[in-house]
Amino acid sequence: MSNTAACTHLASLERVLNAEKVECEECVKTGSRWVHLRTCQACGGTRCCDSSPNRHASKHARAASHPVVCSAEAGERWLYCYPDDETAEY
Ligand SMILES: [Zn+2]
Ligand SMILES: [Zn+2]
Ligand SMILES: [Zn+2]
Repeated sequence: MSNTAACTHLASLERVLNAEKVECEECVKTGSRWVHLRTCQACGGTRCCDSSPNRHASKHARAASHPVVCSAEAGERWLYCYPDDETAEY
């Protein structure tokens, strides 16, 4: 876990929550499609990325004040903080 000066969210994360299901929990309700998936590190919910039409992960981050997600894509090991626009590998 790399520390950054700007973001305390990434620095204070003790473990990474991985996706329980590899699908966007909002898109499956409406039958929408997604491009990539992100897992919220505050509640463990998995939602779609900003390249997806519905951008559920960033909407959730703002609405719930849950700043940090990890990539839920196979083989990707990184975290992202929305409010600070910081990325960290793990
Ligand atoms: Zn942050
Ligand atoms: Zn979605
Ligand atoms: Zn959340």
